[in-house]
Amino acid sequence: MSSGNEPLDIKAELTQAGAILEGHMVLTTGLHSPGYICFDSVYPEVDLMMRIARALVEPFRDEHFDVVAAPGVGGIALAIYAGVAANSLVPYPVKPVWADKHGREFSLGRMGFQGYVSGSRVLVVEDVITSGDSVKRVLNKVEEAGGTVVGVSAVCDRNDGRPGSNVPRASQLAVPRFEAMAKFDIPAVPAWDCELCILEQAIATDLGHGAQFEEDNPNYKGGYISLLS
Ligand SMILES: [Zn+2]
Repeated sequence: MSSGNEPLDIKAELTQAGAILEGHMVLTTGLHSPGYICFDSVYPEVDLMMRIARALVEPFRDEHFDVVAAPGVGGIALAIYAGVAANSLVPYPVKPVWADKHGREFSLGRMGFQGYVSGSRVLVVEDVITSGDSVKRVLNKVEEAGGTVVGVSAVCDRNDGRPGSNVPRASQLAVPRFEAMAKFDIPAVPAWDCELCILEQAIATDLGHGAQFEEDNPNYKGGYISLLS
């Protein structure tokens, strides 16, 4: 994994960049959690992101991938950073593409994207992988478009302790190879089993599915807050 550059302590860097948030969150899976990893404050930090992107693609440099793909919306920035990093690592062009989100589904429907993927070797990248659902959907789209997946590279592998979350990611995603720069064990539980709900701690509405939870539970006694603004 060494690039000859200074080692990247990803947990320390993300913490310093304000990406590791504590509170009462509802994840996109609907589970409640005391922690959330949010890259909004990291993407504008170009130097850090370029170091992250290099470390993300480097383990796969010998896999001869020529496309980097990511799930939108957050993944759009990650795909571009990773694409730039890959182009500085290998002597042939690597194209960044992303799958736009439509409801729960993803699409490689932008002009030319399917053409880039077709017949190419594709590395799928993700900032935070938790359930793996988004990545799985993008993997399916890549294969439908005629691409060959060389693997998945994630910045953060978030294990939320659910049953089955100890299955190796490569098997879970059915890919030849999975790499993550850091592993985070942050529990997540259904609302009915959530200690923070019992303690009536306010729920963050601007992360994950917090706003959706508010819509479905307007009378939650702990109330709602905004964590990001
Ligand atoms: Zn809760």
